[in-house]
Amino acid sequence: MYEIRIHGRGGQGSVTAALLIAKAAFFDQKISQAFPNFGVERSGAPVEAFARISDKEIRTRSQVYHPNFVIVQDATLLAQVNVFGGINTETVVIINSNYPIEEIPHLPKGVQIYLVPATETALEILGKPIVNTLLLGYFAAITGLISLDSVKKAVEERFAGEIQTKNLQAVEAAFHAAEKLEPQILTGEFKPSKVLKKTENLSEIIVGPGTTMNNLTGSWRTFKPVFDHDVCVNCAKCDLNCPDGCIFEVKDEVNSRGKHFREVDLDYCKGCGICAEGCPVKAITMVLDEK
Ligand code: SF4
Ligand code: SF4
Repeated sequence: MYEIRIHGRGGQGSVTAALLIAKAAFFDQKISQAFPNFGVERSGAPVEAFARISDKEIRTRSQVYHPNFVIVQDATLLAQVNVFGGINTETVVIINSNYPIEEIPHLPKGVQIYLVPATETALEILGKPIVNTLLLGYFAAITGLISLDSVKKAVEERFAGEIQTKNLQAVEAAFHAAEKLEPQILTGEFKPSKVLKKTENLSEIIVGPGTTMNNLTGSWRTFKPVFDHDVCVNCAKCDLNCPDGCIFEVKDEVNSRGKHFREVDLDYCKGCGICAEGCPVKAITMVLDEK
């Protein structure tokens, strides 16, 4: 039996990715299962999804604590979540990142790591940073556990119209790009990371009062707002629209019309883009955040 754990963020399609892996395996005449683990978090919050593939009946119903494969949809999670919990030197890791391996912190040594530039390709093909179907294509080619034909069949069942066409294109592009990829292994001794904690009772997941400031939602972000101070008319709509209250007026600086302008607290901005949507003079542009 092969166990797969996917780490992503709310809205990135981790749950769909796990379902499509299981469906593709089913089309390949294997036994499979898929299920997610997430709470009531908003878009951008870390989520996990799991899949199992086997030639025999799968009786295990637990979360995946010792994965054979780990897929990380967003490399910023490495600093936030113990994505390598329970892995060993046989585990294969696929991470969405276009940075060289030496520049990515928190990676384990002695483990096969594939770095795949899925966000870049998703923006080219889908026009959005939704990388789940791309990662399916990479996963199929790297592991050989599911066939390209079955992944495409699963995608065809899931999506329709233009979204289906683009996602099929994304799967093909990733599959063929992965055929040329080699795993990278950081030299050094492998140090096991502790197994992801099982949630034992409700008190562990209830957030205490006054803890909002501790929740640095800025780490959830893929895009960040950039203000054109000379276009901004200082209407304050963005302050009111921001669900995280993280836009503030810069008191000691003024723009070319002598008006105070706005900035954003990047510790808490989760990149939802609501401020840009609501700005009446289009003074805010959402740009890819190279964190
Ligand atoms: S909504 Fe636009 S114009 Fe109004 S304060 Fe914000 S950035 Fe400036
Ligand atoms: S993108 Fe804009 S509205 Fe959304 S959290 Fe950031 S500042 Fe607030």
